[in-house]
Amino acid sequence: TEAAAKSDVYTTIPKNTETPYGVPSKHEFQAETRMLLDIVARSLYSEKEVFIRELISNASDALEKFRYTLLTETKKDKLSDPDRELKIHITTDKQNRLLTVQDTGIGMTKEELISNLGVIARSGSKAFLEQVKKQQNNNANNIIGQFGVGFYSAFMVAEKVEVYTKAATELRGYKWQSDGTGSYEVQPAENVQPGTKIVIHLKPDCRQFADENTIKSVINKYSNFVGSPIYLNGVKV
Ligand code: ADP
Ligand code: MG
Repeated sequence: TEAAAKSDVYTTIPKNTETPYGVPSKHEFQAETRMLLDIVARSLYSEKEVFIRELISNASDALEKFRYTLLTETKKDKLSDPDRELKIHITTDKQNRLLTVQDTGIGMTKEELISNLGVIARSGSKAFLEQVKKQQNNNANNIIGQFGVGFYSAFMVAEKVEVYTKAATELRGYKWQSDGTGSYEVQPAENVQPGTKIVIHLKPDCRQFADENTIKSVINKYSNFVGSPIYLNGVKV
């Protein structure tokens, strides 16, 4: 049946964990994640700009995953908007101290949001924590850039991060949000575009990352080898 055919592609969410639109569910970060976030948020690391490299690299990975899924013919017709343009959109908003990084890639299901952005899986972040523990003096400042702490590096500059995402195989979009302390919230959201949009609410002393020229030079510095076009405030970089 059609429903059965769909079920191997569309992720079904257990009813008892699903909240209505506008009603968030609260989740605690895993202890290791909390430790990492704590170090990242308090870091005096001088090259905070590396968080942009990390977010663009995640966007690029998500676009590659979507391209790969397109090659899986049996699934192609069940993907939302298979003909979408594959790109990365970055916007800056000085007035509101906002930076957004949006991609039209694979997106995340609700389960993936929770398992990918609540738990430390990547080897780089684990190695980083090991190294910090070894140093004992808790001085992480010179090694954040060396290991790269992935998505969590956004909390070097953010007082709040929002993630809007809609997986290629899902009908529903979600919002994840956190201030980088103990917990994060997840809720169904309306009008989410296929892919992922990361909204960084910058700390007052990190307002330079809402400046178009600053972002442009960081993109040029780190992201020459990204396999999809990058737009900054609507203009191709
Ligand atoms: P890594 O990229 O090394 O896996 P990150 O901390 O950068 O580690 O990201 C963690 C995970 O979150 C990624 O593996 C991916 O599953 C998910 N993720 C992060 N950003 C995106 C995005 N833009 N689109 C889809 N998934 C993402
Ligand atoms: Mg990454």
